[in-house]
Amino acid sequence: EAKKLGRDRYSLFTDQMQRQAQNRMRLLGELHGALSKQQLQVVYQPIVELATQTVCKAEALLRWQHPTLGMVSPVEFIPLAEETGVIVEIGEWVFRTAAEQVKHWRQSYLPEFQVSINKSPVQFCNERYDQTHWLNQLEQLGLPGQSIVVEITEGLLLDARELVSRQLLIFRDAGIQVALDDFGTGYSSLAYLKKFDIDYLKIDRSFVSHLQADSSDLALCEAIIVMAHKLGIKVIAEGIETAEQYALLVKAGCDYGQGYLFSRPVSAEAFNVLLESPASWRIVS
Ligand code: C2E
Ligand code: MG
Ligand code: MG
Ligand code: MG
Repeated sequence: EAKKLGRDRYSLFTDQMQRQAQNRMRLLGELHGALSKQQLQVVYQPIVELATQTVCKAEALLRWQHPTLGMVSPVEFIPLAEETGVIVEIGEWVFRTAAEQVKHWRQSYLPEFQVSINKSPVQFCNERYDQTHWLNQLEQLGLPGQSIVVEITEGLLLDARELVSRQLLIFRDAGIQVALDDFGTGYSSLAYLKKFDIDYLKIDRSFVSHLQADSSDLALCEAIIVMAHKLGIKVIAEGIETAEQYALLVKAGCDYGQGYLFSRPVSAEAFNVLLESPASWRIVS
């Protein structure tokens, strides 16, 4: 009996793995066409200055509206896009789209508005589009470097130090700011903060989500904020979902935040509404 159960479990397991593998192959094959078929979209999540509750930046986030599978999460398809290298092409499109959008927001709403763009390590190591390509595009659009924040992950700093520090210097000279994303989850090393000139630390959502319940998470957030400030780095908290989390982060001196409490990532049109009517989303406290 136990043996039979074991076998059934085993086949259930392999069925599931096989389905996952098939799904993966399918997405891999279709990803290349997704861009030309206009199935990709950029959505924007507000980044709020916590003390004043004003939206001062937006993070650009990719979405894939698949014709039969529906919305495929970037958590699923970004790794595939990195594997095949198609992230380079997609990333260039995200940059262009987000840059045009921030130009509009700067002209129509806030002259200092910034868009924050995720850049994968694979994109940094590509020869066809080096960092000057982004600078050229900004020039074409008549945008200063200050309109862009590039979000990188700790893994990048670990991988190809020389190449990366050269490229980050090019950004820096152009006024483009750099944010270290998902801080605390990767190979966090305080040495990076000294070696690389970083403007923002983004505290990973996993620390923010248990702020109320877990006093060690609160201690970590407070310590990160104090340390960052001493190094002249501003802090952005990711994944703020409750008013309590918001209040604790304000008390800890956190500079900026983003999360469902303020808004989910939304289309550019819906983002206009957030900018036009702050009263619609501001937290009363
Ligand atoms: P990330 O850069 O850390 O982006 C933040 C993620 O947290 C987003 O997930 C966002 O929707 C989600 N988030 C924000 N606030 C909350 C909250 O309050 N609660 C919860 N549960 N989640 C929240 P998303 O859009 O699914 O993106 C996932 C990851 O995919 C991103 O993590 C980033 O690493 C990657 N990604 C997305 N767009 C791009 C892109 O254009 N290029 C590259 N290279 N990577 C991208
Ligand atoms: Mg990010
Ligand atoms: Mg992040
Ligand atoms: Mg994260």
